[in-house]
Amino acid sequence: MSRTWLQQLQHSVAVNDAMEQPVALENLRRLYFAAAFAVVFDLIHILVFWLNLQGSSPDHDGWRLDIIRIHATVALLFSALGLLAWLASRPQRNSPLWFMKLLSLLASAILLGFGIAITGADQQVTSSITPFLMGAVGAALIILMRPRHAITLYILALSIFEVTMMLTQASPELRLSNQMGGLTICGIGLILSLILWHGHIRNLRQRQFLRQQRLELEEKNRQLEYLAGHDPLTGLFNRRQFDQLVSMELARVSRQPAPVSLLMVDLDHFKFINDRYGHPLGDEVIRHTAQLLRNYTRSGDSVARLGGEEFLLLLPDTGQAQARSIAEKVRKLLEETALPMKGGLLYLTASFGIACLEAGVPGTYEGLYAAADKALYRAKASGRNRVELIEVGAQMGTFD
Ligand code: GH3
Ligand code: MG
Ligand code: MG
Repeated sequence: MSRTWLQQLQHSVAVNDAMEQPVALENLRRLYFAAAFAVVFDLIHILVFWLNLQGSSPDHDGWRLDIIRIHATVALLFSALGLLAWLASRPQRNSPLWFMKLLSLLASAILLGFGIAITGADQQVTSSITPFLMGAVGAALIILMRPRHAITLYILALSIFEVTMMLTQASPELRLSNQMGGLTICGIGLILSLILWHGHIRNLRQRQFLRQQRLELEEKNRQLEYLAGHDPLTGLFNRRQFDQLVSMELARVSRQPAPVSLLMVDLDHFKFINDRYGHPLGDEVIRHTAQLLRNYTRSGDSVARLGGEEFLLLLPDTGQAQARSIAEKVRKLLEETALPMKGGLLYLTASFGIACLEAGVPGTYEGLYAAADKALYRAKASGRNRVELIEVGAQMGTFD
């Protein structure tokens, strides 16, 4: 039982430790707003008491002057604190945590000290301890305090208040009544502070949790988006994504005439590799070919895996001669780049079918695809490990 209680306490302390930075920043923000309000509040008091000083009964001049002095001191302290808080909260300043915490602690101490000082001064004319209540509640409302700091501060404030009453309240009955009142006020201030701290920490943790969930969701969406457009084995575009890219390219060349080529690549005798060495090596061969195609092609080209050991390349702004030269180079590169495998090297070849749409010739994806497929078939039929090309529109009818 006590272990659970201890663990609970340790957990709370750990949570409070983790929240120090966001709480310190929130306190700074509150502090410079509260400082502006406090300075105006003090100036109004100074003005009213100053005007009241003129022509008032001289018996109470000391009290009025004490009040003016206290408000003037607090106004000065809050001006300085507010300015420091504003400067420390600027993101580019990167203020140390201890400094931000110190400013908040000083603000709470000033508010409590202000309540005690005014109450002490007031004892010359009234037994009211309302200013101490205002200071204690104000400190709890404005500044978020860690429970252990709040407990220390309110105990300290209560002690100083008790001593102040002993020094300022002559009547033993009123002194006792005020001292007990001070105890209640500190209790109220402390409970309020603890409740507000707890509520704020819960809020912060919920917000952090939601932010974390949102980030995870965004990451999952990115992964899904990637998977929807890419082939998991090679990381190349899949057919779906490739179709979109070709459609976009064809739409572009219909507006700004330019040649475009579609290259279909099919590894030779791949089934034999699978059957002889097993599917894992077959997969390795597919990845190896994909890597080679990706490395060789230009940044504007798109490479997709159609399925199995077949690949499609979209080559924008590429006419017949250039497309043939690219395909020849890739073919040679593949032929020369053997894949290391257990017990030796595996030499690969592939056949290439090119469909080329010259600038200004109207064409469809279906037409290009069918032409590339025919060209590939021709390459296979002519002995494999070769490149064949069909110009869409001009020669489609002459083939077969
Ligand atoms: P050709 O020279 O005429 O192209 O002959 P081929 O053996 O390469 O052609 P075929 O299309 O008959 O064989 C393709 C084989 O690819 C058949 C299938 O088992 C295999 N395959 C399809 N997808 C994958 C895959 O993801 N991994 C592996 N290892 N093999 C695959
Ligand atoms: Mg095939
Ligand atoms: Mg094949």
